[in-house]
Amino acid sequence: MTKSILIVGGGVIGLSTAYYCLQKGHRVTIVERGAPSHNCCCQGNAGMIVPSHFVPLAAPGMVSLGLRMMWSPESPFYIKPRLSADLLSWAWKFYQASNAEHVKRSAPLLRDLSLASRQCFEELSEIPGNDFGLVKKGLLMLCKTEHALHEESKTAQTANALGIPAEVLSPEQTAKLDPGIKMDIVGSVYFPKDCHLSPHLFTAGLTRLVENAGGQFCWNTAVTGWRKNPEGIEAVETSHGPIQADEYVIAGGSWSSEVVRGLDVKLPMQPGKGYSVTLQKPRKLPAICSILTEARVAVTPMGSTLRFGGTMEMAGMDDSINPVRVRGIIKCAPKYFPELSVEDFDNLPAWSGFRPCSPDGLPYLGRFPKYRNLSAATGHSMMGLSLGPITGKLMAQILSDEKPGLDIGLLNPARYT
Ligand SMILES: Cc1cc2nc3c(=O)[nH]c(=O)nc-3n(C[C@H](O)[C@H](O)[C@H](O)COP(=O)(O)OP(=O)(O)OC[C@H]3O[C@@H](n4cnc5c(N)ncnc54)[C@H](O)[C@@H]3O)c2cc1C
Repeated sequence: MTKSILIVGGGVIGLSTAYYCLQKGHRVTIVERGAPSHNCCCQGNAGMIVPSHFVPLAAPGMVSLGLRMMWSPESPFYIKPRLSADLLSWAWKFYQASNAEHVKRSAPLLRDLSLASRQCFEELSEIPGNDFGLVKKGLLMLCKTEHALHEESKTAQTANALGIPAEVLSPEQTAKLDPGIKMDIVGSVYFPKDCHLSPHLFTAGLTRLVENAGGQFCWNTAVTGWRKNPEGIEAVETSHGPIQADEYVIAGGSWSSEVVRGLDVKLPMQPGKGYSVTLQKPRKLPAICSILTEARVAVTPMGSTLRFGGTMEMAGMDDSINPVRVRGIIKCAPKYFPELSVEDFDNLPAWSGFRPCSPDGLPYLGRFPKYRNLSAATGHSMMGLSLGPITGKLMAQILSDEKPGLDIGLLNPARYT
């Protein structure tokens, strides 16, 4: 049975959900409060597809690491201390989820989601005219200290046990793999299944595919409330009047908990602000994307440009750019890549975006039991691009009343309601 599906949010998750629902023959409307050129969280992100990220953000050691890091003004992690009931409740849930059992349960699911999503990216890149710069050369975790290399080697062991190939490399082996740029490191871990792409091209391509398949966009239209009855949603209230559909999907990224206000469901979420800066003409260009392990900075070649992205700043919905933390990202570049210098970044604009962070580091995906026609697809934190296509595919199955292709019980959107 074909249905009308209304998706709140035109970021990578909303677009992916729209694309796969249209493939199933449904009629789709995306309600996005921004303009067609709006700055969703994918515009300036690091463009990585990461089967290597099978450990959720909520993991053992993360709370103490966060507490240690947050006192340095240039550190990659910061929580702005403030009296906010939402933040305190989120932090408590994060603390509770940060244990080995949670990681053990989540890792196989994150692996399956990532590998299935990688397959979707390959298929999407084969659609004529839909080139988004997909490069399937893997990812390097670059380490400057023996301690970091030792820790990453343990992750590599776990990855291999899970069926995600990973290899510990010496500096010479790393240089041989990516001879385009000099690296000052003690070694690296190589994840050959990871990929990278140009995220703005990917979302532009998806927007085109959705439009060409008959999807409707309501740009500059904000969802402001809901009309409901005891069983389901009747209509969504927007800044341009109510809109009715058979199914409603919350894909509002960091704003999703606001979007569901008044619906007696809870989607705890904190925006994790991150920054990126992009060298337009780098002196040297690596071929493989990397993470500067100690600095927690992601480095991605995108065409002839080179992007550096990082920091996780939990300071509410404050989209101002903190130049000190951006400098923290920039200062790392020459430490790992001595042919680059801090001056290369002079006068470059910094970009910021909000990662939608759930307290247990897992997305919210699926139907809410309370309403027959309300679902969520959000909370992907640092993996929203990577898991975008598989999220869309699973949502299309769920909305078509099919059994989802993967067991996604852990992602139940009502787990905190
Ligand atoms: C520096 C940085 C680097 C990153 N690197 C990577 C990476 O390499 N790989 C990866 O997988 N992920 C990465 N991420 C994370 C990734 O970008 C996000 O997880 C992903 O973009 C989230 O997508 P989304 O669609 O859920 O949210 P968003 O992109 O935030 O989209 C939500 C949309 O909903 C709209 N909206 C909200 N409320 C309303 C409303 N009431 N009415 C109408 N519309 C509404 C918003 O305007 C917005 O456009 C990175 C993030 C950052 C910040």
